[in-house]
Amino acid sequence: ITFASLALAPALLRAVEETGYDRPTPIQAQAIPLVLKGGDLLAAAQTGTGKTAGFTLPILQRLSANPLAQRKPGRPRCLVLTPTRELAAQIQESVQTYGKYVPLSSMVMFGGVNINPQIAALKKPLDILVCTPGRLLDHAGQRTVDLAGVEILVLDEADRMLDMGFIHDIRRVLALLPKERQTLLFSATFSDDIRKLAHGILRNPEEVSV
Ligand code: AMP
Repeated sequence: ITFASLALAPALLRAVEETGYDRPTPIQAQAIPLVLKGGDLLAAAQTGTGKTAGFTLPILQRLSANPLAQRKPGRPRCLVLTPTRELAAQIQESVQTYGKYVPLSSMVMFGGVNINPQIAALKKPLDILVCTPGRLLDHAGQRTVDLAGVEILVLDEADRMLDMGFIHDIRRVLALLPKERQTLLFSATFSDDIRKLAHGILRNPEEVSV
């Protein structure tokens, strides 16, 4: 299997080619076609499996294929929630790398740093927002972020977010999102709590496991 056989757009294939990847990893081969179809996804995958490209590439494709949606300041079309600032920064880096040749904008935000530069950056139109849950809620509370336009939600490392006590923050974020959306949940492990969360937020998800 090759990246080209996954029906990725030329602009994305070119960016992937430049990274030097030979072929998709198993999670990429499984997840990319499913996400491109627009359905929900429940994925068991650890860090190191290539899961980030597995969700980033098809999301970039879906967002760039739909120019009808309006870009507005502080109003992301895709929200990626992840537990730590390190993961958030890595995901943002992947979005930049794979999205090099598509006209989408992205931004990363996390807690523990001054909020004012984030507020200033949010005044520009934005497609993809990568964020830790607490800081996102700070912005939502100050109305510097508007989550009503989110078309795609990714919960990355959901098990770690629950372990770190983010469940209430996640539930608060979910309440601010449109019901009609695509949701992707990635977790290394599947506890009862993860199953319960997944059951509540995913609609007829396809399941993949690597
Ligand atoms: P992740 O699991 O998303 O954190 O990715 C782990 C590492 O695998 C990252 O350093 C990626 O750059 C790398 N990677 C992702 N996809 C591929 C691929 N298809 N071939 C080789 N390396 C990859």
